[in-house]
Amino acid sequence: MKENSQRTFRRLLIILLAVMLLTGAMIIFAFYQFYSIASNNIIRRWLNNVQQEAQDVSYYLTMPTDAVAFTGKKLNAMMARNATYEEVFAYLQDETSVYSTMIDENTTGVYCYYKGKYLDGSGWVPPADYDPTSRPWYQQTLRKGGLTVVDPYMNMQTHEMTMAVCQLLDDGESVVCMDVFMDGIQALTEGAAASPEAAYALVLDKSGMIVAHSDINEAGKNYAINTESIEGKMVRELNKDAGNFFELDTGDDVYEIFSEPINQEWKFVLVLSKDKTFSSLTYIYVVTALSLIAVFGAILFLFFYINKKHQENIVLSEDMRAAADIYVDLARIDFRSDHLEAIKQQEDGAGFIQNPSDSFTRVSEQICSEMTAEQSKEILKNFLNVENIRERLKEANVLSHEFMDTRDQWIRTRFIVMDRDEKGTPLHALLAFESIDEEKKYQEKLRKLSELDQMTGIRNRGSGEAMIRNLMADGVRGMFCLMDADKFKSINDNYGHDVGDKVIIAIADCLKKTFRDTDVFFRLGGDEFAAYARGVDSEKIGRNIVNRLFYNIDNIHIPELKDRKICLSLGASFYPADRNDSFDALYKRADKGTYRSKEQSGNYATFLFYDTDI
Ligand code: GH3
Ligand code: MG
Repeated sequence: MKENSQRTFRRLLIILLAVMLLTGAMIIFAFYQFYSIASNNIIRRWLNNVQQEAQDVSYYLTMPTDAVAFTGKKLNAMMARNATYEEVFAYLQDETSVYSTMIDENTTGVYCYYKGKYLDGSGWVPPADYDPTSRPWYQQTLRKGGLTVVDPYMNMQTHEMTMAVCQLLDDGESVVCMDVFMDGIQALTEGAAASPEAAYALVLDKSGMIVAHSDINEAGKNYAINTESIEGKMVRELNKDAGNFFELDTGDDVYEIFSEPINQEWKFVLVLSKDKTFSSLTYIYVVTALSLIAVFGAILFLFFYINKKHQENIVLSEDMRAAADIYVDLARIDFRSDHLEAIKQQEDGAGFIQNPSDSFTRVSEQICSEMTAEQSKEILKNFLNVENIRERLKEANVLSHEFMDTRDQWIRTRFIVMDRDEKGTPLHALLAFESIDEEKKYQEKLRKLSELDQMTGIRNRGSGEAMIRNLMADGVRGMFCLMDADKFKSINDNYGHDVGDKVIIAIADCLKKTFRDTDVFFRLGGDEFAAYARGVDSEKIGRNIVNRLFYNIDNIHIPELKDRKICLSLGASFYPADRNDSFDALYKRADKGTYRSKEQSGNYATFLFYDTDI
């Protein structure tokens, strides 16, 4: 039973583990899918952000670019008709006033190097040693040609970092420019780097020059110079043009790099910390994993706990069943509902509990009326009464009662309290029926044995005396005799102890022959015997009995004794001698009689009625 259940447990455990493994695998797979979709979404969102930022920078540059392109076209036309410096200067002044209202504080205005002369629409007069051809805006434009976005440099007029949009004119040496302040682009990088996931944002050109950086101190540096630095590696990756997104592992940290070209030269770059970017996903992952572990742990714990309880219950029910084997019938009683439920019944329906489920009152009535011997009925009915038993069980956990059934078999019925309410009144109890017939018979045998003298088989002193006392208490008149063998020691001495025993047994046999079954006769011990002859109240009748006894004694034949005779000295007294007569007084009188008889030889009896006879 236990092995079976353990095998079932192992099987269930394997199934449970398999189901948990499968569920775990499915959840991990689903989570992996979710993770890649979610992380792709995150990456896409940041790419969109970077695109937007790049577009904003591009917009920022569009106006000056368009303005310079337009002004360049106009100046080329003026140059073609040999316009004077004054005409060009006036034109530049006009343009500057137009753009400064349009572009606001982003620019100082339009200026140019026109046919070897520096002309500034904003009216700025350069210092005397100012050489326009040495300035970055001129040199870069000349080198690159056409419309050029010049990398930031220090503006000599404003002493601020400035970038310029310039156009090389048709003569190949004149250049028209418009300065663009970096504040706007700087603000865009700062805005992009403001989100918690971002490490920094920047705009750089192909050479690795930092046009703008969310950390303003980085602006103007060239990241390509130190190829071994992290920034150098980043520039290398960016220039590979392998896409708008890559990951950069610095050893300490992993960065997600998002980039978007602004024009052919520049790129907007946003650098995010990988941990922070995917922290929400990591959080979900950790919470899911922990929940999964907790749920699986709880399931396993519950499983083991239930199994443990189950095993305990099996052991308990096995113990119960083993214990119940001593009962022929066993049932559980619910006192409140008067419900009786059989736990064990006799298979042939010959037991005291006939139905698996019944009313306790009905069952007890049926037992009393149909299954109990007449003499046991009344007491058993009282014992099985539901009110009585409930009241009595308040004081005791177990109550039992023995009765005889209709087949005259001894049965013991027992209530065992299972639980109680707060007042101590029993709620449930076991009702058990046990066959004790053999036990009873054995007890009876023991009782009888304890009442008999082992050597002779007649009553011993204890039981004999008790019987006489009972008769006397019941007022039964009678003659009490005490008998003692004469010179018994000499029989022992001359013929041996065995022969002595034979003599004692022979005397007992004579008592059996002499007295009636309703009389009481017994061995007091040694060679002394006693008897109570019921209803004998005169010496005349007494003598008849005594003579019969002496006759029998006279006829004892024990070969070893040859012709040696056995003689008894007998003292007899009668009950009652007076109103206060007692067993002790009766005994005393008979004893005196015996003593007197000893003085005579042969079988001799002395009768004493009253103490005064002594
Ligand atoms: P008296 O005539 O005065 O009665 O003398 P007696 O020898 O019979 O002496 P008494 O009755 O005082 O002693 C009885 C003796 O019986 C004492 C003991 O040795 C012996 N005796 C007692 N019980 C047994 C017994 O079970 N078997 C045998 N063989 N002898 C016993
Ligand atoms: Mg004697």
